[in-house]
Amino acid sequence: MAETLSKLSPQKIIIHKEWCKGCGICAALCTKVLAMDSRGKATVVNPAMCTGCRRCEYHCPDFAIHVGQEVS
Ligand code: SF4
Ligand code: SF4
Repeated sequence: MAETLSKLSPQKIIIHKEWCKGCGICAALCTKVLAMDSRGKATVVNPAMCTGCRRCEYHCPDFAIHVGQEVS
């Protein structure tokens, strides 16, 4: 698993906090990467663990989270 992760390009996770209503769906789906902050908004806590699966993006009811490959 670690070997598979290391071969993936880094993922950029963007959370539009102004659109996030704090439902917690994304954080519940991905406890290793996402959590809720003190204001009740989704936040990224461990970006290195993101596989780029985009489940968070597909399930966000407010289109508030986007995942894509980091462009350097
Ligand atoms: S699923 Fe969307 S609206 Fe719900 S907490 Fe996550 S980013 Fe916010
Ligand atoms: S893309 Fe997948 S691994 Fe990355 S934050 Fe979203 S649900 Fe988690």
